[in-house]
Amino acid sequence: MEGRNDSCRMVPRNGRRVILFPLPFQGHINPMLHLASILYSKGFSVTIIHTDFNFSSTNYFSCNYPHFDFHSFPDGFSETEASVEDVAVFFTAINGKCIMPFRDCLAEILMKSKADQNKDSSPCCLITDAFWFFTHTVAADFKLPTIVLQTCGVSGFLAFTAYPILRERAYLPVQDHQSLETPVTEFPPLRVKDIQVLETMDQENVYRFVSAIDTQIMASSGVIWNSYRDLEQAGLGLAHQKYLSIPIFPIGPLHKCSPASSGSLSSQDYQRSISWLDKQTPKSVVYISFGSVIAINKDGFLEIAWGVANSRMPFLWVVRPGLVSGAEWVEPLPKGFLEMLDGRGCIVKWAPQQEVLAHPAVGGFWTHSGWNSTLESMCEGVPMICQPYLPDQMVNARYVSHFWRVGLHSEWKLERMEIERAIRRVMVEAEGQEMRARIMHLKEKVDFCLRKGGSSHQSLERLIDHILSF
Ligand code: UDP
Repeated sequence: MEGRNDSCRMVPRNGRRVILFPLPFQGHINPMLHLASILYSKGFSVTIIHTDFNFSSTNYFSCNYPHFDFHSFPDGFSETEASVEDVAVFFTAINGKCIMPFRDCLAEILMKSKADQNKDSSPCCLITDAFWFFTHTVAADFKLPTIVLQTCGVSGFLAFTAYPILRERAYLPVQDHQSLETPVTEFPPLRVKDIQVLETMDQENVYRFVSAIDTQIMASSGVIWNSYRDLEQAGLGLAHQKYLSIPIFPIGPLHKCSPASSGSLSSQDYQRSISWLDKQTPKSVVYISFGSVIAINKDGFLEIAWGVANSRMPFLWVVRPGLVSGAEWVEPLPKGFLEMLDGRGCIVKWAPQQEVLAHPAVGGFWTHSGWNSTLESMCEGVPMICQPYLPDQMVNARYVSHFWRVGLHSEWKLERMEIERAIRRVMVEAEGQEMRARIMHLKEKVDFCLRKGGSSHQSLERLIDHILSF
């Protein structure tokens, strides 16, 4: 990791300030904060703008990042409006509501910086999450260049933004059950079932939303990918073709370059998770987490519980409050469920995931295939069982199972016998050993690409020069 672990505070400031604007969700905040830390370690001063949504504790962030300048603005969302059940409607609404307050906030930051006698840190660009699709227009009014941070995998994102083309070519909307298995020749190894659009009240809205994201990228001064060349070479080639003159910077995996837990919105049960893992034998534990957003129903929850229990493998399971629809936490579990397992299971509300995956006791990860989770598993050489829910997760899962071949895709019914079988396939059977060998190979490549001269390291150097050229 030479060249990436520089101690932030020792590096003198380079006279330039970057302004970063994360989307207020865990899977987007983490990579943005990692990026901020990397840029800080390279001498840039850092301002973070964030909305009030999901950021109840700005102080917490300021404490973890005392060297960053935080600004927030109200997004105007009420509790009910903030429900993210219809993702497309939510994103469109939050983008609409944030235009004016974001403009005001940016104007104030730029005005203060102009008035400041200390010209050591004049803002030189805005780094925006790709899902904020109005930001380039606002920044352009202030003559501030925009760079887009893409927090999805390259292939997942390209498949998502290809909806309009896939519709033109009649893959979408899905016609019948049979066509679900049709290969999407533009995106091997995807099949039609992997590219289904978001479930929403208004499908046209999804197409508009996707086009708006793409239009912003085309107008931007660059795209940063939280990925690395050896992992997504073909996808990056397609991104080059698609975005032609827009420079792209695959500098990931970002989390390998800055502290693991400092961007967590929920407090991580470090003590319980790690002390329980410390008592388990190497590679024996299945770690289960479905990320920060998706919810499952009570029946599915119980099938998971019994499937894991019946597999007889030890497990560490993240059940965040809100994971099970209609339940506070784990009350749908039968009374005495954990006691019956005699110490073989541990349930926490939120785990220090990167440390958990790096723990020698963990042998498999049952995941919803969010991009951060997928990358984190790759980086620690832990084979996966993929249970995707949202569109980019479907694509990640397909790549994990059929392209990198480092996990299983749960194309089965969420049913206890299937779950038990999948866990044993990954944890104890030869098939799982082969996946482990392949993912260990990918892990080695991660280490290599982050080293001086490696592909991500070189991309980062290019990115720094690019920002300094503004
Ligand atoms: N995460 C965590 N503790 C948990 C579960 C998840 O710290 O108990 C982190 C995880 O390490 C990852 C992020 O939350 O960085 C989830 O991002 P991902 O893209 O995998 O899924 P999302 O939450 O966006 O669906």
